[in-house]
Amino acid sequence: MTTGYKGAAIQAFATVSMCRSLSGKEVEVRSDSNPDEVYTVGTGAIERSTPTCTCNSFKYQQGVDKHGACKHIRKVVSAMCGWHSQWNTGERQSSRQEKAQICPRCGGPTVPCRVAV
Ligand SMILES: [Zn+2]
Ligand SMILES: [Zn+2]
Repeated sequence: MTTGYKGAAIQAFATVSMCRSLSGKEVEVRSDSNPDEVYTVGTGAIERSTPTCTCNSFKYQQGVDKHGACKHIRKVVSAMCGWHSQWNTGERQSSRQEKAQICPRCGGPTVPCRVAV
């Protein structure tokens, strides 16, 4: 009896919680040098995409850090909570927070996130 079946890789998923700040948003950041200028930083869903900015330094990749982030992106990302139950195992949700879907770090809402296990 030959089946020829090698067995598909079984991918298991678990649902964990993460702070809604990680699910991506657009933030307007005012230019330091020109108060009339406002740039839009898109943080994207953090596990899938890298942040973007509408300023010229991001566009031409000048004065950006080694991750390609301009100062507007750095400002938005550093102000972001970014709690994720898999990455920040030291900060666990209490069962009350888990039920109410509250982030243990910033007190904001959490969203479910599917991860491969
Ligand atoms: Zn920028
Ligand atoms: Zn949070």
